[in-house]
Amino acid sequence: MSKSDIGPPNFREMLPEVIEKNYGKWKYHEILKPGVLRHVSETGDEVFTVRTGSPRLVSIDFIRDLCDIADKYCDGHLRFTSRYNVEFITPNKKNVKPIMDEAKKLGLPVGGTGNSISNIVHTQGWAHCHSAATDSSPIVKALMDELYGYFTSMKLPGKLRVSLACCINMCGAIHCSDLAIVGVHTKVPKIDHEKVGAICEIPTTIGSCPTGAIRRHPDKEIKSVVIREDLCMYCGNCFTVCPAMPLADAEGDGVAIYAGGKVSNARKPPMFSRLIVPYLPNNPPRWPEVVDIIKKIVGVYAKNARKYERMGEWIERIGWEKFFQLTGIPFAEQHIDDFTYARETWRTTTQFKW
Ligand code: SF4
Ligand code: SF4
Repeated sequence: MSKSDIGPPNFREMLPEVIEKNYGKWKYHEILKPGVLRHVSETGDEVFTVRTGSPRLVSIDFIRDLCDIADKYCDGHLRFTSRYNVEFITPNKKNVKPIMDEAKKLGLPVGGTGNSISNIVHTQGWAHCHSAATDSSPIVKALMDELYGYFTSMKLPGKLRVSLACCINMCGAIHCSDLAIVGVHTKVPKIDHEKVGAICEIPTTIGSCPTGAIRRHPDKEIKSVVIREDLCMYCGNCFTVCPAMPLADAEGDGVAIYAGGKVSNARKPPMFSRLIVPYLPNNPPRWPEVVDIIKKIVGVYAKNARKYERMGEWIERIGWEKFFQLTGIPFAEQHIDDFTYARETWRTTTQFKW
């Protein structure tokens, strides 16, 4: 019988020998070139890391190809980063170039270090999730094709984290990224009254709505709910708990874009990302409207931000009105917060720029 509650394997059993030996003794590190790091230990040992991009959604053949490189140059060891990049670690500097060559043969870019655009943290999209308002992997692919030069170089003022979530459940990091793409609906859920009674728990369904738009059906004989359309903002939360209230719509679904979030405490406290583009249509397979606007914002940030300034720090310094002016993004009524803590986001000062 198989064992249960055994937890993950102990990571220490999988450490390369040089990492195990120098665990907790690292003195400093440097970035030798984009995608290549050197860590030096107080014992004098050093390790070299080659970081390559990965599409995250990969085949087992892809994993086997990675294992072949690891077997050849890294004593069978490799690791994945928290942004799905792959890292090959070796104590032997001579292995760096062959690892880079092997990665190139697999079509994997070396980079993602320092002030670059590293991998895009993203979600399941139409490949696997039932609540997606947009797709994930194709947008990431279309974007990274265009932002490739920022992955393989370190020429930006600061780190620029991009993330994507295919619905406002926001699996991942879109609420705290320099630039973020999120799938949004624009139509009220369609209620299948027969099914609601059969497959949904009505109090939970009513309780799932952040704006209180869902009520019991006025006809007590009908075990279902109704939606006050003027209160619905198409979040899709009711569909998550009640599959009889679908709202995906080929025409209405699309994406919104957010900017200015960060997680680190460097210089300024962590920031939430904020809405900058309320809606762009889904335009598969390459989502050109999304790619264009992201490329434009990255270009304006690269030109205007100061050294080390993250997107949110830059916007805070110049002011949101200036950000909209520089990027040419039109300001719309949807930008004005009208939810629970809206008042805190409105301007309560006479300080602004014309
Ligand atoms: S963000 Fe939404 S659609 Fe995407 S994986 Fe998460 S729950 Fe599913
Ligand atoms: S989509 Fe969201 S706002 Fe609209 S009824 Fe469902 S839970 Fe409420």
